[in-house]
Amino acid sequence: MQTNFSPAQLADPRVAESEKILRKCVHCGFCTATCPTYVVLGDELDSPRGRIYLIKDMLENGRAADRETVTHIDRCLSCLSCLTTCPSGVDYMHLVDHARIHIEKTYKRPFKDRFARAVLAAVLPYPRRFRFALRAAGVTRPLAGLVKRIPWMKTFGVMLDLAPKAVPPASAGTRPATYAAKGERRGRVAILTGCAQPVLKPEINEAAIRLLTGQGIEVVVSAGEGCCGALVHHMGREEQALEAARRNVDIWLKAEDEDGLDAVIITASGCGTTIKDYGHMLRLDPGYAEKAAKVSALAKDITEYLAGLELPQREKRGMTVAYHSACSMQHGQKITAAPKELLKRAGFTVREPAEGHLCCGSAGTYNILQSEISEKLKARKVRNIEATKPDVIATGNIGCITQIATGTALPILHTVELLDWAYGGPKPAGL
Ligand code: SF4
Ligand code: SF4
Repeated sequence: MQTNFSPAQLADPRVAESEKILRKCVHCGFCTATCPTYVVLGDELDSPRGRIYLIKDMLENGRAADRETVTHIDRCLSCLSCLTTCPSGVDYMHLVDHARIHIEKTYKRPFKDRFARAVLAAVLPYPRRFRFALRAAGVTRPLAGLVKRIPWMKTFGVMLDLAPKAVPPASAGTRPATYAAKGERRGRVAILTGCAQPVLKPEINEAAIRLLTGQGIEVVVSAGEGCCGALVHHMGREEQALEAARRNVDIWLKAEDEDGLDAVIITASGCGTTIKDYGHMLRLDPGYAEKAAKVSALAKDITEYLAGLELPQREKRGMTVAYHSACSMQHGQKITAAPKELLKRAGFTVREPAEGHLCCGSAGTYNILQSEISEKLKARKVRNIEATKPDVIATGNIGCITQIATGTALPILHTVELLDWAYGGPKPAGL
C-alpha cells in the first residue's frame, strides 16, 4: 500500500512503525473471509482491510479520530485471525494497538461510554474490587432486564447478565508462596495469578500448580504481581497498561535473580499474548526495554511448557473433549497442536469444532461493550461446539470459559484442569 507520511510525521517512532506495517498490505482481501466481524456484519469497514484503510487515513492526515473510525475500530475483537490469514505478514496487532491509543488520546466518547469504560478499567484489573462487584451483581441481577432498557445504563445491564451466579471464595491454594517440587527438582517457574481468573475460577491455577509440582517443577507465586495489563491495553489506555507491565517485569525479574526461572507460566492465553508482547510495549522505555524483552522471552502458556515435560501416556478414559482454541492461543501465540496432543496423551478423545478460527465473542471487555455482535458470535460458536457431541469443552482462556458457559449446558473447563485430573489430581468440579 502506498503511503504519504511527511518526514516530520515519520520522526515519531510509532508512526514510523505503523507506516511500515501499512506499506506491507497489498489489498488482497484474503483476511476478510476469516474476520469474525466481517462474517457477521458483511461491511467492508468491519473487515481488517477496511480498518487498515481507516487507520491509514487517520494517521496519515494526522487528524483526531472521528466517529466512523471509532465505530469500526471498536467493533474489532483484536482476535488476530487476520494475522494468521494475511499472506503478506501485515502486523495488524500492533497497528490496531496504535490506533486505539490514538483514539483514546484524540476522541471524546459520549458520556455513557466514557463512564462504562472508566468503571471497567477501575474494577476488572483489581481482584478485590472485581470480587466485590460480582457479589453486588449477584444481588442486583434480577434487575438486569430493567437496567438494560435505560440507554445510558445498558452496559451495566449486560455486565449483570454475564456475572456468574456464585463467586468462589479466595483460594488458599494459590497464595503468594513457593510451591515445592515433588521429588527431584527438574525446573523452577513463576506463575501469573492475574486479576479476573483467580476471582472467577481459582481452581485453574490450583490445578496448574498441582500438576507442575507433581512433575518436579517448583512454582513461585510472587507477591505483588497482578493484572497483565491486557484489559486496559485493548481499551487504548496505554499508561495504565504499561504501569501493569512494569510492575510485573520487576517482580518476575526479582524472582529470577533469587534462584533462576525457566519460564513465567500463564494459564490465560489472553494474558499470555500480552506478556509475550511486553518487550514491544516497553520498547521505547530505556529503563525497561531490555528487562521487558527478557520477561517476554520467559513467558510460556501452561500447555506450551507442559509439552516439553513429556507427560506419560494414559489409558483411554472414554470421555470426548471439544477443544476450543482461544484466538489469543491460536492467532496471538500460534499454539495450536500442544493442547490437543496433551489431552490425547492424557487419555481423552479430542474433537475440533467447525469454524475453529472464529472468535467466541469474549475478547476481554468486548462481550460487555459490543454485546450484540458478541452474542451472535457466541451462538455460532456454541452451535459448532455442540455439533461435535462432546462430554466436556476444554479451552485455555478464562474469557472464553465465561463467555461460552453462558450459552451452553455442557461443562467447560480449562485444559489444565483435565490434565491435572488425568495425572492424579481431583476430578474437576462441574463434571
Ligand atoms: S483482529 Fe479479528 S475482528 Fe479485528 S480485524 Fe482482525 S480478524 Fe477482524
Ligand atoms: S490479507 Fe493482508 S495484505 Fe491482504 S488485505 Fe488483508 S491485511 Fe492486507
